[in-house]
Amino acid sequence: MDLIAVAVPFFLLLIAVEFSYGLLRGRNTYRVNDTVNSLSMGTLSSINGLVIVGFSALIYEYIVDTLQLTQLPADSALVWVMTFVLYDLAYYWKHRLGHEVALFWGSHVSHHQSEDYNLSTALRQTSIDFHGFLFLIPFFLIGVPGEIIVTSVSLNLIYQFWVHTQHVPKLSFIEWIMVTPSNHRVHHARNDRYVDKNYGGVFIVWDRIFGTFQDELDDEPAVYGLRKPLNSWNPLWANIHVYWRLLVDFVTLKGIGNKFKLLIKPPGWLPENQLSSCKAKRTVDLTSKYDPPLHPLTRIYVASQFIATLSVSLPLAGLAENATQIELWAAVLFVAGSLFVHGYILDRRKHTLLWECGRLIAGIMLALLVPLGDQLSTILLTSSCVALLLVFGSVLFGHNLLTLKPKGSEELIRNAENQISITR
Ligand SMILES: [Zn+2]
Ligand SMILES: [Zn+2]
Repeated sequence: MDLIAVAVPFFLLLIAVEFSYGLLRGRNTYRVNDTVNSLSMGTLSSINGLVIVGFSALIYEYIVDTLQLTQLPADSALVWVMTFVLYDLAYYWKHRLGHEVALFWGSHVSHHQSEDYNLSTALRQTSIDFHGFLFLIPFFLIGVPGEIIVTSVSLNLIYQFWVHTQHVPKLSFIEWIMVTPSNHRVHHARNDRYVDKNYGGVFIVWDRIFGTFQDELDDEPAVYGLRKPLNSWNPLWANIHVYWRLLVDFVTLKGIGNKFKLLIKPPGWLPENQLSSCKAKRTVDLTSKYDPPLHPLTRIYVASQFIATLSVSLPLAGLAENATQIELWAAVLFVAGSLFVHGYILDRRKHTLLWECGRLIAGIMLALLVPLGDQLSTILLTSSCVALLLVFGSVLFGHNLLTLKPKGSEELIRNAENQISITR
């Protein structure tokens, strides 16, 4: 049973609870831009499966029909427990290779881009998972029933949600057996001592067995994010930026052997003669976060529009059963485009007025032309019309809502623009 779709509303509720708790304790771990970006990544990851058909189901079907060794019983508690534990072992290796093989890192990098660490980080998932199915093949080969595999995968992912928090301290002896907030904080850190450690999904014992465990140290607070920061709130770029770099290196590198090694070696690998010049430039910044300054009103505007986009995306799976393919594509493209424009405004890019107006008009057309259901159409139509009035009204009064400058922000804006130009 795919439990993840059922769990999503609870995830969002728990994010609200963690945010409120942080505010009450005077230790807020959320920023609007980072949260919108993380949830945008989760949304893209869940809606791309509605319009892009994968090959994994066909491969599983072929294995079950022709190569399956035996058929294990679906009502055996032993098979359920064995699958849950062994899937976690498979997950450990999938995750570890996701960090140690450049081709796979391009996919997994999405989960590590946030420079904050909170429950929304857990929903930051890739839209390009082309190799995950390989790690399920052994389970189909030995005849584990499909429903047990799907449930184990879902439970594994659901377990990982709660460990993405800074509010839970070390948990005594549990740290020895289970993945916990403390040992997963280490996994998300970019400090030298913490990099490429703690790959476990549910059980941390795999890391202890295979030598990748690292305890969270009192004298080394975790600093979250990538060692080479993304410096962008664009969720589409976040999904492909490593692959873009890999493609450029692949084309420019000489020798087929080097091209092949580039893909299977750890991220950042280059031939010996090219490595020294790059190494000199690489220093890891542990002090700053990407945070282009935004006027509080612009922040509130983007956050409210993001909630409207989220309300359209959540019921899309249900819509997929009734809508035509064109209608479904229109809704998916509107959501993806909206997430892009929200990031574009948060990045303080140029021509945001044009992009936002185009998006809002597309939203109105979608609400009027595509049978989204009465409730959803009303939400989309109302939020798009109100937003258009607000944006045009602000422009008429000479203070464009999308580009309002917070007081004393000139230097901060210059710094943010520098961060973008260094990354690109
Ligand atoms: Zn990871
Ligand atoms: Zn994580």
